Amino acid sequence: MHILLTDQLACPRCGPEFGLIVLADRIADRRVESGTLGCANCRTGYPVEAGVADLRVEGSTLFFSPDPSVSEPEYALRLAALIGVQPPQTWVVVIDGSGAAAPAVSGYLPDARIVSITPGPAVPASAAPVQASPAPAQAADRVSKVFAGERMPFRSGGFRAVVVAGAPAPDLLRELGRLPGRGGRLVVTGGDDETVKILHEMGFTMLLREADTLVAAAPGGR
Ligand SMILES: [Zn+2]
Repeated sequence: MHILLTDQLACPRCGPEFGLIVLADRIADRRVESGTLGCANCRTGYPVEAGVADLRVEGSTLFFSPDPSVSEPEYALRLAALIGVQPPQTWVVVIDGSGAAAPAVSGYLPDARIVSITPGPAVPASAAPVQASPAPAQAADRVSKVFAGERMPFRSGGFRAVVVAGAPAPDLLRELGRLPGRGGRLVVTGGDDETVKILHEMGFTMLLREADTLVAAAPGGR
């Protein structure tokens, strides 16, 4: 993960107001390869191994149904188009089942800082096989990989866009809804009437609804 992502992180146990401190064992090219992300409040240490931050609370699961068409060639281009042009150096979250979408999206949004959220393996990260990325190394290097459960390990309002390649459970959707900053976008490819209802309740404005795909703008934008 990129060292600057630390500023966006929050303890998934204690909540969005409780930031994390990085204790890096190895940093290469501004990326934390191994170390610990510590919460000063509950004293939990979350591991960073092989560059991936494991910010799951034990027993917590990321409840969403991944979109099966995520590996299709045009998929990432479509996601990038739905995210739209964003200011450089802004943070964008991409949630999908395998982590394949984020590097591909990153290739189309070279100025964005992409965070890839996946449910992570059931076994400890260190025991999991290393996944080969289909994207060029340069694009993959810009992506910060995070394993997360139902509580997003981030402060609120620090992202320009949040993309869900699939259908999030209502509680996860509400959690994701606090991540985009004023006017930031939330893109859901597996949305339905319930998704629209929840987003309206949270003050979002619908920008697009095309079959299952929804694009909404967070309150407070222009
Ligand atoms: Zn904590």
